[in-house]
Amino acid sequence: ETTKVHKKIVLLGSTGSIGTQTLEIVDACSENFQVVGLACGGSRLDQFVSQIRKYRPKIVAVFDTTQLQRLHTLLKDLDYDCQIGGGEQGLVDCACFPESDLVVTGIVGCAGLIPTVAAIKAGKDICLANKETLIAGGPVIAPLVEKHRVNVLPADSEHSAIFQCLQGVPSGALSKIILTASGGAFRDTPLEDLHYVTLNDALKHPNWTMGAKITIDSATLMNKGLEVIEAHFLFGTAYDNIQVVIHPQSIVHSMIELCDTSVIAQMGWPDMRLPLLYAMSWPHRLFLPYSSLDLVKVGTLSFKEPDRNKYPCLDLAYEAGKRGGTMPAVLNAANEEAVFRFRNNEISYLEIAKVIEHTMSHHETGLFVERPSLDDILYADQWARKTARDFSPKLHFMKHSAVA
Ligand code: NAD
Ligand code: MG
Repeated sequence: ETTKVHKKIVLLGSTGSIGTQTLEIVDACSENFQVVGLACGGSRLDQFVSQIRKYRPKIVAVFDTTQLQRLHTLLKDLDYDCQIGGGEQGLVDCACFPESDLVVTGIVGCAGLIPTVAAIKAGKDICLANKETLIAGGPVIAPLVEKHRVNVLPADSEHSAIFQCLQGVPSGALSKIILTASGGAFRDTPLEDLHYVTLNDALKHPNWTMGAKITIDSATLMNKGLEVIEAHFLFGTAYDNIQVVIHPQSIVHSMIELCDTSVIAQMGWPDMRLPLLYAMSWPHRLFLPYSSLDLVKVGTLSFKEPDRNKYPCLDLAYEAGKRGGTMPAVLNAANEEAVFRFRNNEISYLEIAKVIEHTMSHHETGLFVERPSLDDILYADQWARKTARDFSPKLHFMKHSAVA
């Protein structure tokens, strides 16, 4: 089995949580994977340079062009040929690099959209970690994937679980997707107390260690909402047949129900390297020397209904998904902006949902497009960011607020 997998990969977002875990998989399976391209945003350039020295990719790019000169300087003594690029074009060149078989998208946010579209057009298989891309770009990406006959292999743990469960299932037999959610940082916090939670509280995920943005999305359950939309685009399942359940142990990574009511679950320790490995090695299975799942040690697996009042972002995501067109792009962009403002201390935790709700309702009465082109999506994304940035939600019951 092992010898069948030989893939040359381009990794976008190599300095992040997904990026570094992808490189751990490359280290663990070095006969199977070769890194031919690396790209990042630009904030951790020293780490990026060490990665380049270690993996010796043939092409690299940094999105932030103000870092490009420094990157050139830091790589001056490189003893082999490496193409160095910057900005959106640099990312696109990496994504389309002729020698690669697979592009791993570990970029955070909608910034992943253009390079992913370019990679699909160049006929590359996609190992999809960046969920914002498919959520915003779904209406454009889905037909593009068909046209260019590429594989989109999900690396998100839930979608990997569904994908694994689906192997060997006859087409048409899937009746329902059951997405599990840990419940995030505030799963045991009562609704009343959510007025006072801080950024640091929101950054404490009970089960997974991830980048800051997705950790906050886990606390609001927007992460799960985005994953509902992601599942819809990946597996073609209607929104009414995608159910979210809170599963605090994060051992069952998701489930599918078949037409005969049989339910199939995929389980494992919460470790992103496993879904990443499967996406990278599919349809094969590779050996990993990690510790086996010990269900006796876990003891209990429990499931409960999410509290819709406590997690308004979940319903906003369903609403945007069902509306379709440019609405998921607007949901995603408004959320990225709201999370950014929350991290900047400009808005409170509960105001995140208010900002998104406001942006979506303005979009409905204005610029909504039912069958968007890529340009319509990019425009809706920019419009939503600005709208979300300019809106002051003014909820006056924050504890530290001077207003009574
Ligand atoms: P992170 O913040 O840890 O890393 C983000 C990476 O993207 C960094 O390498 C950064 O340099 C790069 N980046 C940021 N802006 C960029 C830009 N404009 N151009 C190019 N590169 C840019 O984020 P993460 O947690 O690794 O998440 C990455 C993606 O994977 C997100 O879409 C997230 O939803 C998804 N995801 C992550 C996890 C996880 O366990 N971390 C799990 C499931 C899905
Ligand atoms: Mg996930």
